[in-house]
Amino acid sequence: MLAREVETRPWTEQLAVDDESYRTQLAYLFDRSPFYREKLAAAGFASDRAAGGLADVAQLPLTEKGEIRATCTPENAIGAHLCATPSEIVRIYSTSGTTGTPSYVPLTAGDLDNWVTASARSYAASGITSGQRIVSTYNAGPFVAGAALAAFDRIGLCHIPVGTGNTERLILAVERLRPEAVVLTPSYAAHLVEWAAERNVDLRDSSVERVLVAGEPGGGELAFRAKLEEGWGARITEAMGIGDIGVSLWGECEEQDGMHLGARGFVHVELIDPETGEALEMDDGATGELVLTHLQHRAAPLLRFRTRDHVQVRTSPCKCGRTSPRVRCIGRTDDMLIVRGVNVFPSAVREVVSAFAPDVSGHILVKPQTSGVMQEPPLPVSVELARGATADAGLAEAIRERLRNVLVVQTRVDLVPWGSLRRSEYKSKLVEH
Ligand SMILES: [Zn+2]
Repeated sequence: MLAREVETRPWTEQLAVDDESYRTQLAYLFDRSPFYREKLAAAGFASDRAAGGLADVAQLPLTEKGEIRATCTPENAIGAHLCATPSEIVRIYSTSGTTGTPSYVPLTAGDLDNWVTASARSYAASGITSGQRIVSTYNAGPFVAGAALAAFDRIGLCHIPVGTGNTERLILAVERLRPEAVVLTPSYAAHLVEWAAERNVDLRDSSVERVLVAGEPGGGELAFRAKLEEGWGARITEAMGIGDIGVSLWGECEEQDGMHLGARGFVHVELIDPETGEALEMDDGATGELVLTHLQHRAAPLLRFRTRDHVQVRTSPCKCGRTSPRVRCIGRTDDMLIVRGVNVFPSAVREVVSAFAPDVSGHILVKPQTSGVMQEPPLPVSVELARGATADAGLAEAIRERLRNVLVVQTRVDLVPWGSLRRSEYKSKLVEH
């Protein structure tokens, strides 16, 4: 554990510490943030005192990414939530917007340091330790993942960046430099298992003991994870962050029962009902959308930011000794479809289908018939067969039946030959409109 006294602090004590940070953060927002001064005043909170403490946070309005974007102007490309002066900003990352225009994420030196601290805790939870080697496959470019790479230095690892899109170089680095760990997206980790099998390369014979996956949901899906663990002969753990709030906020420990909040003390976590916006209790097993609040941020802090990540919470004690809550990402609310009133996450469809291995490859593609979220049943799902397997009406029917029982959704399952769905070296696309 990188910071044992912090990571094992009883959670109620953490909330007391966080309450103090939060009150200071609110005062800072009223002082420096034109966006929040106006937004909170419109909601009836004229001062930080009126807004109260962390116990009252659910009374405050939620922040949508679109609201921030709407305040960007030619004079202020970052947005009206910018609090710091230009001389205080040391880094500006971008997040890729669905509209094609990036949103900018500014950081002060202190913000960046906090991001790296949190990210280092999250990645260290996987069990990787100082002196070990890790091969990374991110071409971080403008994106916040660049800050996650700094976490490897903080842990004391020997970092071997090989970038994305060159599988030969990656495998060569694994063979010659014998790293204990690799970090990649779950899609790429799965692609490598197939790539190796086609070339009679056995990844299980490699030096890699830990495969750290991040960047998209999926690493926590049990059947998918089992397939990766078998292919790599290594332990899979996942990490997760969100560009606007922080990189690798969450990281899974060796117990593999959800990701701990590595960013404890820097970020406050809430759960809401994504449809009504109503706050939900963070009880063990509860599901909902994650809402995050910065506690010690300076450049452009966010309050009750809707992440669009749909998660299940775990608060039961973890054997590793870390006391923060854990989450497992079920999917992105943005990818969710509603089929006759039932919420369907494409990643959940993949999880159900993957359990049919070894008959299926684990690759799926959901093909909604109409644009938008609302869909009429049956929802078409292409399911790729395993290599050498042939289409079989009984298998399609069994998958359809399982999807109906587990996800309560009517589907039309089309079995497609091995290799016909697109592989990704970065993030998988599970839906094609
Ligand atoms: Zn743990």
